[in-house]
Amino acid sequence: ATPTAVMVGTGVGASQGVLIKGGQALESAHKVSCIVFDKTGTLTVGKPVVVNTRILKNMTPREFYELVAATEVNSEHPLAKAIVNYGKKVKKDEENPVWPEAKNFVSITGHGVKALVKNKEIIVGNKSLMLEHNLAIPVEAEEALEEAEGMAQTGIVVSIDGEVAGVVAISDPLKPGAREAISILKSMKIKSIMVTGDNWGTAKSIAKEVGIETVIAEAKPEQKAEKVKHLQASGYTVAMVGDGINDSPALVAADVGMAIGAGTDIAIEAADVVLMKSNLEDVITAIDLSRKTFSRIR
Ligand code: ADP
Ligand code: MG
Repeated sequence: ATPTAVMVGTGVGASQGVLIKGGQALESAHKVSCIVFDKTGTLTVGKPVVVNTRILKNMTPREFYELVAATEVNSEHPLAKAIVNYGKKVKKDEENPVWPEAKNFVSITGHGVKALVKNKEIIVGNKSLMLEHNLAIPVEAEEALEEAEGMAQTGIVVSIDGEVAGVVAISDPLKPGAREAISILKSMKIKSIMVTGDNWGTAKSIAKEVGIETVIAEAKPEQKAEKVKHLQASGYTVAMVGDGINDSPALVAADVGMAIGAGTDIAIEAADVVLMKSNLEDVITAIDLSRKTFSRIR
């Protein structure tokens, strides 16, 4: 393609809300044979809401959510925001409630958070975080987790002073058009894979809903990048689509990193392409544009 054609291509992209950072990215996009998708905030809306709470201890929802929200208010994670918002609803009385002070707050990336609230040790996160703290998961909690995951929700476990005290089920629905986009990619002979830090149960349910067959769950940020490199070593030209800090190593490793416009600044910086409208149809827009610029119409 001539420099003019590349300029026209990036210009057309920009006018459609697909920002392509340079000719190399536009060129690589038409060779993409495999796309790795992050789940939360990429395939899903990324605005999760609490839909169910199972409290296992003798305490009111108000008491439970006061401790949990006081811990999560220190986290930037979308799941944390969902929990704090729900905590506000449970509290009802104030628009901006003052939560009890959280001491020794620690965030364990990809697992959860912990803090000392009202002299109680609060741990909020996934099952593996509980197991790392040598906490037994009671049968009732196990059941609540399975129920949530079967409905494509994320089950978050809460422990108070070394005992599992409840499970919070959080729902983050698929983006409109996500299923269609995956199906179109399939017809274009492009393989779609989902890689997520979320648990296997939820990941598989979401993958099934969206029509993706290959799933990797409970992946740490470095593992997302390793998966991209592994696919490249197997001969694929790989695009990665993600929105989070945890996706940035994979966005950099990919032949074409595509960031969701509504995502974090770090992901947007790490990417070669920014999907300003945050929808998945624009993954196809970017590839089409590249095909038209570099290989005429295929
Ligand atoms: P994803 O790759 O789907 O965007 P993350 O890697 O950010 O997910 O998180 C993985 C999992 O770790 C979440 O599904 C959740 O179970 C747990 N987790 C992470 N941060 C928090 C938090 N602040 N509160 C509760 N759980 C969390
Ligand atoms: Mg994400």
